[in-house]
Amino acid sequence: MNELEIATQLVHAGERREPPVGVPVATPIYSSATYTYASMAEMDKVFSGESPDYIYARYGNPTVAALQEALATVEKGNFACTYASGMAALHAALFACELSANSVVLASRDLYGASFDLLYKIFGAFGVKTQTADFSDLDALREKAAELKPRVLLAETISNPLLKVCDIAACAEIAREVGARLIVDNTFASPYLCQPLDLGADFSVHSATKYLGGHADATGGIVIAKQEFDRPALVGVMKLGGGVLSVWEAHQILRGIKTLGLRLERQCQNAEILAEHLSKHSRIEKVFYPNFSEDVQLTGKVLREPFGGALVSIILKDNTRESAFRFMDALELCIRATSLGDVFTLVSHSATSSHRELSPKRRADLGISDGLVRISVGIEDIKDIIADIEQALEKI
Ligand code: PLP
Repeated sequence: MNELEIATQLVHAGERREPPVGVPVATPIYSSATYTYASMAEMDKVFSGESPDYIYARYGNPTVAALQEALATVEKGNFACTYASGMAALHAALFACELSANSVVLASRDLYGASFDLLYKIFGAFGVKTQTADFSDLDALREKAAELKPRVLLAETISNPLLKVCDIAACAEIAREVGARLIVDNTFASPYLCQPLDLGADFSVHSATKYLGGHADATGGIVIAKQEFDRPALVGVMKLGGGVLSVWEAHQILRGIKTLGLRLERQCQNAEILAEHLSKHSRIEKVFYPNFSEDVQLTGKVLREPFGGALVSIILKDNTRESAFRFMDALELCIRATSLGDVFTLVSHSATSSHRELSPKRRADLGISDGLVRISVGIEDIKDIIADIEQALEKI
């Protein structure tokens, strides 16, 4: 070929160099949307699946694959698939359960609000019926499952905002008895505290936006599957639904999980000290913390001992929205925000955020009162967290 013009050189010079022989210690960000091969014959083999490799970012990406492998390893899954958000991951797991018109999903009654919306508004539009049950009442759950013959049982490891721990092993047994699949949203516990597949679940789902990323700067979701036969459905949703995890987010989350153990140990220790401190506070009516619950033995069976998680919920003494707002407005260090699982301590008011769409009666039935505040405890020095919460409580 003739010497290329500068405009052409600017496009191609330096690109598509041979990868280094030295293996990068940390996974690089492979941002390329597409891949080329030495010949069409080689490319054809990749398209046909004969040579497993990369073709196009929506089908697979080396950085994203590193995160998938990491999560499949730590939660002992057969494989893992990533998605653009936790909701996209939950959608994929439900899709993998082959729901059709009139199939029933039996969901824990205190599921994350958007998960209910997904079930009612999206799957409901295709005729899927959602029923709810109190998953902490195992006899009633078993009876309801036997009666409804659901295709799916959907649970959360730790409920929001009352922080009830789910007996995943018992739910898995009930699911098996009726031929249902068990999906566990493990977002609130993270893989460091709970391994749902070990306890009998078929799928563990995470909003990676929370503890996995851990720094409030990446949005993503992941499904870890126990059985190889779920791969086509989960990969299919990724490729054809197209809600893939961006390589930039995957890199942030891959970095995030490296410190998950360290962060969570600190966060859980902080949370327990805070819960203990607040349970003696004159301005607080009630503290919710899994290690202080009546069923602390169950907490030990489900969560890594001695940890009780890194969330603490409180009900303020006069239990009104006004006092909750005054308390939250007075915080100077802890941050008013709706997410959780970050290095920062985040404080949210469930009645006006995660459970806003529910009627006051439904909130009352679930035990979510106006004076309830959820604290996602961060990695700061606990003395500073307590001092900030103390001074804000004084200002109620
Ligand atoms: N599951 C739980 C328990 C959540 O709390 C959330 C979000 O808050 C989600 C799923 C959805 O995750 P994302 O916001 O990443 O879609």
